[in-house]
Amino acid sequence: MTVKEIPEGSVIDTPGSSLEYKTGGWRNLVPVRNIEKCTNCLICWVYCPEGCIKLKEGKIVDIDLDYCKGCGICAEECPLADKAIKMVEEKKED
Ligand code: SF4
Ligand code: SF4
Repeated sequence: MTVKEIPEGSVIDTPGSSLEYKTGGWRNLVPVRNIEKCTNCLICWVYCPEGCIKLKEGKIVDIDLDYCKGCGICAEECPLADKAIKMVEEKKED
């Protein structure tokens, strides 16, 4: 098979439309941050692949659950021995 014979896959026909696709719908686990433990080191902010850990004046103020896909990287990368972010099962409405 040549490259030209490979069937065409997905095509983004509307550039700049990624905000319409709320990747939070993929999630089974949700990150929960313990603000008492969190030192605001921002490691989780650096590693989040969706950019959904929101800052204000250098401190975490929110996690945008519309786009958080529940990958758990933030919890994995939190450097505290007793993690300040933990992934918990999400309750979904039927
Ligand atoms: S679970 Fe993944 S997508 Fe959600 S905030 Fe953590 S790193 Fe970002
Ligand atoms: S990595 Fe952990 S301690 Fe650092 S900002 Fe994120 S939750 Fe807080």
